[in-house]
Amino acid sequence: MHMGRKKINSINDEEISILVVIIINILVFEMHIAYGVLERFEHPMIKGDGSLSVLVIGDWGRKGQYNQSKLANQMGITAEKIDVDFVISTGDNFYPSGLTNEYDPAFHQSFTNVYTAPSLQKQWYSVLGNHDYRGDALAQLSPILKHKDTKWLCLKSFILNTDVAEFFFIDTTPFQNKYFSDPEDHVYDWRGVLPRKKYLSTLLHDLESALGESRAKWKIVVGHHTIKSFGLHGDTQELVKNVLPILQANDVDLYINGHDHCLEHISSSDSSIQFLTSGGGSKAWRGGYNYNYNSNSEEKENEMKFYYDGQGFMTLQITQTEIDIRFYDISGKVLHKWSASKSLLLSTF
Ligand SMILES: [Zn+2]
Repeated sequence: MHMGRKKINSINDEEISILVVIIINILVFEMHIAYGVLERFEHPMIKGDGSLSVLVIGDWGRKGQYNQSKLANQMGITAEKIDVDFVISTGDNFYPSGLTNEYDPAFHQSFTNVYTAPSLQKQWYSVLGNHDYRGDALAQLSPILKHKDTKWLCLKSFILNTDVAEFFFIDTTPFQNKYFSDPEDHVYDWRGVLPRKKYLSTLLHDLESALGESRAKWKIVVGHHTIKSFGLHGDTQELVKNVLPILQANDVDLYINGHDHCLEHISSSDSSIQFLTSGGGSKAWRGGYNYNYNSNSEEKENEMKFYYDGQGFMTLQITQTEIDIRFYDISGKVLHKWSASKSLLLSTF
């Protein structure tokens, strides 16, 4: 009787511990749903000197038209010169309405068959733009595309770690109110985004905690939409309100975007963040300089460092102590340069 009772107790203990494990698993799973977890990638540094070279292009996929192919050729030449480690695409990858599905021939016509230079056969890290959301947005995230062209990688939001810098890619299209309240005749593929409020709060939470935990020397955030811009689209107020305070509070060095079809550099008067637009991947020359942006503000005018309305791209060269940014036109001419340095000591904190 006594032995039997003991046996029953020990089974109960075992059951309790199994139950505890199940509950913990459920809680962890629920937390993943509630807060999301940004997928992380590591890009191994292969250069002996520990430096990183990145080429940034945005707003490009037009089957080679609007100077896309000509610019791709120049990208190849520059990428070879600076020995590019990887390419970043700031979105609006396929015009006018993303891809129809994973088998859309536009993937080859606008990507694989255009960026053919050996120096560009490196990993591409891409986010989605508003035009990508007008097609099958999930198709661009599909492993089927990676299988078709191994250099392709696109996710909505993710983190890329390198030894010298951490890149935080964020999905900015769902922030913009007008795509929901006034989509005109466009149909957006909001699968995975609804309910919107929860999607955005999860993304902001994930971004904030990832930036807070980061010990990277250089923190670089990439999204499609502008935060600050003198271009046609101007500032994206939803990002100014919701994302910018997080970047400011976490000592982000660069915010890189596309969306405006230009090349642009804006400094901040109230933080160390540099706002960099690389959206000149194909159709440009829109006469988009937005004079209204600075008409009433001398401060904003002083923040403006560079604006170019034509096709082009940007490069980043980064070491533990230095960052060097360059904007190039279609002939490979450097239009604008900016650099900054940080003491090595800072990296230990
Ligand atoms: Zn766009």
